[in-house]
Amino acid sequence: MTDISLMCYSEARPMVTTPFAATQSGSLTFFTGPMACGKTLELVRHLHIFREQQIPLVCIRPAIDTRTPTVQSRSGLLHDAVAIVTSDLLALTEAMVGKVVIAIDEFQFFPAEIVSVLEQELRKGKTILLSGLDTDFRGILFPSSQAVLALPETIIQRSRAVCSVCHQYNATRTQRLKNGQPVGKDDPVVVVEHANDIITYEARCLEHHQI
Ligand SMILES: [Zn+2]
Repeated sequence: MTDISLMCYSEARPMVTTPFAATQSGSLTFFTGPMACGKTLELVRHLHIFREQQIPLVCIRPAIDTRTPTVQSRSGLLHDAVAIVTSDLLALTEAMVGKVVIAIDEFQFFPAEIVSVLEQELRKGKTILLSGLDTDFRGILFPSSQAVLALPETIIQRSRAVCSVCHQYNATRTQRLKNGQPVGKDDPVVVVEHANDIITYEARCLEHHQI
């Protein structure tokens, strides 16, 4: 009698019984969506899980974002972070040495070239957690977001926020306002909130997003 546990789809081809080997394929998860959708909260929540088990980790944030010396979710949950100048991919690579878990917040501020660095880290078996906006105030993918979404290994966890106009849980876009008014499409892509008091951001649904 044939042992069916050794058969896979076809009786002519027994299942390979080689023991499982350790792989060098890490994992990469991208927590993304519009502002205020909880993506940094999700990043920090995961970091707490790994830190609890004393897994070597590093949390990186772009030096461009001067709001806080830590990675901080709007919920108040925060985590210590290393600030890296976004164009300095060497410093970025060095910050990852010896770490098992790599977290990067405000990922949209990094250049698209960062994704090849991340791919190398994946080949070393690293666990990579990213948090960042998918699209800019115009609804266009940031270069780094576009590049990481195109990476076949990326697991996308895309969240919505509450629209600041209709208050429905359907906001997928980030609205930029200048003195409370929507800006034009020719506004610069990167303007950090609070860097200038007159620039503010809101989560908006497709219907209420304005350029
Ligand atoms: Zn709306």
